[in-house]
Amino acid sequence: SNWSSSDSVISTDSSGEPTGGSPIRVVLLGANGVGKKSFASIFAGASDGMDSEDCELYGDEVCEKTIEVDGETATIILLNTWDTEDEWALEHSMQTGDAYLLLYSITDRASFLRASELRITLRRHRPAQHTPIILVGNKCDLVRCREVSVSEGRACAAVFDCKFIETSAAMQHNVWEAFHGIVRQLRLRRDSKEA
Ligand code: GDP
Repeated sequence: SNWSSSDSVISTDSSGEPTGGSPIRVVLLGANGVGKKSFASIFAGASDGMDSEDCELYGDEVCEKTIEVDGETATIILLNTWDTEDEWALEHSMQTGDAYLLLYSITDRASFLRASELRITLRRHRPAQHTPIILVGNKCDLVRCREVSVSEGRACAAVFDCKFIETSAAMQHNVWEAFHGIVRQLRLRRDSKEA
Protein backbone atom coordinates (compact mmCIF):
# COMPACT_ATOMS: atom_id res chain seq x y z
CA SER A 1 0.00 0.00 0.00
CA ASN A 2 1.25 3.49 -0.81
CA TRP A 3 -1.18 4.99 1.65
CA SER A 4 0.23 7.25 4.29
CA SER A 5 -1.45 9.87 6.37
CA SER A 6 1.02 11.28 8.82
CA ASP A 7 3.44 12.51 6.18
CA SER A 8 0.84 13.75 3.73
CA VAL A 9 -1.04 15.80 6.29
CA ILE A 10 1.29 18.66 6.98
CA SER A 11 -0.84 21.18 8.76
CA THR A 12 -4.34 21.83 9.96
CA ASP A 13 -5.48 25.37 10.14
CA SER A 14 -8.03 25.98 12.84
CA SER A 15 -7.82 29.77 12.54
CA GLY A 16 -9.73 29.65 9.28
CA GLU A 17 -6.78 31.00 7.31
CA PRO A 18 -6.27 28.75 4.35
CA THR A 19 -2.65 27.84 3.84
CA GLY A 20 -3.08 26.02 0.56
CA GLY A 21 -5.00 28.42 -1.67
CA SER A 22 -8.76 28.65 -1.52
CA PRO A 23 -10.28 25.68 0.29
CA ILE A 24 -11.76 22.85 -1.74
CA ARG A 25 -15.19 21.79 -0.53
CA VAL A 26 -15.32 18.02 -0.95
CA VAL A 27 -18.61 16.18 -0.50
CA LEU A 28 -18.96 12.49 0.34
CA LEU A 29 -21.99 10.98 -1.37
CA GLY A 30 -23.32 7.44 -1.36
CA ALA A 31 -25.89 5.00 -0.03
CA ASN A 32 -26.10 4.23 3.66
CA GLY A 33 -23.39 1.91 4.93
CA VAL A 34 -20.89 2.36 2.11
CA GLY A 35 -18.23 3.94 4.33
CA LYS A 36 -18.75 7.71 4.29
CA LYS A 37 -18.30 8.11 8.06
CA SER A 38 -15.25 5.87 7.90
CA PHE A 39 -13.75 8.10 5.18
CA ALA A 40 -14.50 11.19 7.23
CA SER A 41 -12.87 9.79 10.34
CA ILE A 42 -9.74 8.83 8.40
CA PHE A 43 -9.67 12.32 6.92
CA ALA A 44 -10.18 13.81 10.38
CA GLY A 45 -7.26 11.75 11.60
CA ALA A 46 -9.25 10.00 14.31
CA SER A 47 -7.90 6.65 13.32
CA ASP A 48 -4.22 7.49 13.25
CA GLY A 49 -3.91 8.86 16.73
CA MET A 50 -3.83 12.50 15.75
CA ASP A 51 -5.32 15.09 18.03
CA SER A 52 -9.00 15.37 17.23
CA GLU A 53 -8.80 19.06 18.14
CA ASP A 54 -6.95 19.38 14.86
CA CYS A 55 -10.33 19.30 13.22
CA GLU A 56 -12.90 22.03 13.28
CA LEU A 57 -16.46 20.83 13.50
CA TYR A 58 -19.09 23.26 12.40
CA GLY A 59 -22.47 22.85 10.76
CA ASP A 60 -22.45 20.17 8.13
CA GLU A 61 -18.76 20.70 7.56
CA VAL A 62 -16.88 17.81 9.05
CA CYS A 63 -13.36 18.97 8.95
CA GLU A 64 -10.91 21.39 7.39
CA LYS A 65 -7.37 20.27 6.75
CA THR A 66 -4.38 21.37 4.76
CA ILE A 67 -2.57 18.52 3.07
CA GLU A 68 0.38 18.28 0.74
CA VAL A 69 -0.12 16.81 -2.69
CA ASP A 70 2.82 16.60 -5.13
CA GLY A 71 4.81 19.09 -3.09
CA GLU A 72 2.08 21.73 -3.05
CA THR A 73 -0.37 22.39 -0.23
CA ALA A 74 -4.13 22.24 -0.63
CA THR A 75 -6.87 22.92 1.91
CA ILE A 76 -9.85 20.61 1.94
CA ILE A 77 -13.12 21.20 3.75
CA LEU A 78 -14.87 17.88 4.02
CA LEU A 79 -18.64 18.08 3.91
CA ASN A 80 -20.90 15.14 4.24
CA THR A 81 -24.31 14.00 3.23
CA TRP A 82 -24.81 11.13 5.65
CA ASP A 83 -28.36 10.74 4.50
CA THR A 84 -28.70 10.88 0.74
CA GLU A 85 -32.36 9.96 1.10
CA ASP A 86 -32.87 13.42 2.58
CA GLU A 87 -33.76 15.36 -0.57
CA TRP A 88 -32.96 18.74 0.91
CA ALA A 89 -29.54 17.71 2.19
CA LEU A 90 -28.74 16.12 -1.15
CA GLU A 91 -29.87 19.15 -3.11
CA HIS A 92 -27.86 21.42 -0.81
CA SER A 93 -24.67 19.36 -1.09
CA MET A 94 -24.96 19.31 -4.86
CA GLN A 95 -24.93 23.08 -4.87
CA THR A 96 -22.16 23.65 -2.35
CA GLY A 97 -19.43 21.18 -3.30
CA ASP A 98 -16.37 21.89 -5.43
CA ALA A 99 -15.68 18.18 -5.82
CA TYR A 100 -17.35 14.87 -5.03
CA LEU A 101 -16.37 11.43 -3.82
CA LEU A 102 -19.16 9.17 -4.96
CA LEU A 103 -18.97 6.04 -2.83
CA TYR A 104 -20.42 2.58 -3.19
CA SER A 105 -19.54 -0.71 -1.56
CA ILE A 106 -18.11 -3.41 -3.81
CA THR A 107 -20.09 -5.86 -1.64
CA ASP A 108 -23.43 -4.20 -2.33
CA ARG A 109 -24.74 -3.96 -5.86
CA ALA A 110 -27.66 -1.77 -4.78
CA SER A 111 -25.17 0.85 -3.53
CA PHE A 112 -23.45 0.72 -6.96
CA LEU A 113 -26.78 1.44 -8.66
CA ARG A 114 -27.43 4.22 -6.14
CA ALA A 115 -24.06 5.74 -7.05
CA SER A 116 -25.17 5.85 -10.70
CA GLU A 117 -28.41 7.59 -9.73
CA LEU A 118 -26.50 10.10 -7.64
CA ARG A 119 -24.11 10.71 -10.54
CA ILE A 120 -27.04 11.47 -12.83
CA THR A 121 -28.55 13.87 -10.29
CA LEU A 122 -25.14 15.45 -9.81
CA ARG A 123 -24.64 15.93 -13.54
CA ARG A 124 -27.81 17.99 -13.66
CA HIS A 125 -26.32 20.35 -11.08
CA ARG A 126 -22.68 20.09 -12.07
CA PRO A 127 -21.37 19.51 -15.58
CA ALA A 128 -18.46 17.06 -15.41
CA GLN A 129 -15.91 19.35 -17.03
CA HIS A 130 -16.15 21.79 -14.13
CA THR A 131 -16.43 19.51 -11.14
CA PRO A 132 -14.03 16.73 -10.19
CA ILE A 133 -15.89 13.55 -9.32
CA ILE A 134 -14.30 10.27 -8.31
CA LEU A 135 -16.29 7.06 -8.24
CA VAL A 136 -15.03 5.16 -5.19
CA GLY A 137 -15.54 1.42 -4.78
CA ASN A 138 -15.03 0.96 -1.04
CA LYS A 139 -14.60 -2.21 1.07
CA CYS A 140 -12.21 -3.81 -1.42
CA ASP A 141 -10.81 -5.79 1.53
CA LEU A 142 -13.99 -7.90 1.51
CA VAL A 143 -12.92 -9.92 -1.52
CA ARG A 144 -15.12 -12.92 -0.82
CA CYS A 145 -18.28 -10.77 -0.64
CA ARG A 146 -17.59 -8.86 -3.85
CA GLU A 147 -20.71 -8.14 -5.93
CA VAL A 148 -19.27 -5.46 -8.23
CA SER A 149 -16.14 -6.23 -10.25
CA VAL A 150 -13.28 -3.80 -10.78
CA SER A 151 -14.04 -3.69 -14.51
CA GLU A 152 -17.69 -2.82 -13.86
CA GLY A 153 -16.60 0.02 -11.61
CA ARG A 154 -14.13 1.27 -14.20
CA ALA A 155 -16.69 1.01 -17.01
CA CYS A 156 -19.25 2.92 -14.98
CA ALA A 157 -16.75 5.69 -14.30
CA ALA A 158 -15.93 5.88 -18.01
CA VAL A 159 -19.62 6.21 -18.91
CA PHE A 160 -20.07 8.92 -16.32
CA ASP A 161 -16.87 10.70 -17.26
CA CYS A 162 -15.27 10.55 -13.84
CA LYS A 163 -12.21 8.96 -12.23
CA PHE A 164 -12.31 5.61 -10.47
CA ILE A 165 -10.56 4.11 -7.47
CA GLU A 166 -11.12 1.12 -5.21
CA THR A 167 -10.47 1.68 -1.52
CA SER A 168 -10.68 0.04 1.85
CA ALA A 169 -11.45 2.38 4.70
CA ALA A 170 -11.06 -0.60 7.04
CA MET A 171 -7.50 -1.23 5.83
CA GLN A 172 -6.90 2.50 5.27
CA HIS A 173 -6.02 1.65 1.69
CA ASN A 174 -6.23 4.33 -1.04
CA VAL A 175 -8.40 6.65 1.08
CA TRP A 176 -5.87 9.49 0.94
CA GLU A 177 -5.24 8.66 -2.71
CA ALA A 178 -8.90 9.53 -3.37
CA PHE A 179 -8.50 12.96 -1.71
CA HIS A 180 -5.22 13.52 -3.56
CA GLY A 181 -6.98 12.62 -6.80
CA ILE A 182 -9.51 15.39 -6.20
CA VAL A 183 -6.75 17.94 -5.64
CA ARG A 184 -4.89 16.78 -8.76
CA GLN A 185 -8.01 17.06 -10.89
CA LEU A 186 -8.70 20.59 -9.68
CA ARG A 187 -5.11 21.58 -10.42
CA LEU A 188 -5.34 20.16 -13.93
CA ARG A 189 -8.43 22.29 -14.52
CA ARG A 190 -6.75 25.35 -13.04
CA ASP A 191 -3.57 24.81 -15.07
CA SER A 192 -5.48 24.31 -18.31
CA LYS A 193 -7.37 27.55 -17.64
CA GLU A 194 -4.11 29.41 -17.12
CA ALA A 195 -2.53 27.98 -20.26
P1 GDP B 1 -21.86 5.38 5.98
O1 GDP B 1 -23.25 5.00 6.35
O2 GDP B 1 -21.70 5.53 4.50
O3 GDP B 1 -21.32 6.56 6.72
O4 GDP B 1 -20.94 4.10 6.34
P2 GDP B 1 -19.99 3.86 7.61
O5 GDP B 1 -18.69 4.58 7.45
O6 GDP B 1 -20.76 4.09 8.85
O7 GDP B 1 -19.68 2.30 7.42
C1 GDP B 1 -20.70 1.33 7.52
C2 GDP B 1 -20.08 0.03 8.06
O8 GDP B 1 -19.15 -0.49 7.12
C3 GDP B 1 -19.31 0.23 9.35
O9 GDP B 1 -19.52 -0.92 10.16
C4 GDP B 1 -17.87 0.30 8.90
O10 GDP B 1 -16.98 -0.14 9.90
C5 GDP B 1 -17.87 -0.63 7.72
N1 GDP B 1 -16.86 -0.27 6.73
C6 GDP B 1 -16.63 0.95 6.19
N2 GDP B 1 -15.63 0.90 5.29
C7 GDP B 1 -15.21 -0.38 5.26
C8 GDP B 1 -14.19 -1.08 4.51
O11 GDP B 1 -13.46 -0.53 3.69
N3 GDP B 1 -14.08 -2.42 4.73
C9 GDP B 1 -14.86 -3.08 5.63
N4 GDP B 1 -14.65 -4.39 5.78
N5 GDP B 1 -15.82 -2.46 6.35
C10 GDP B 1 -15.99 -1.13 6.16
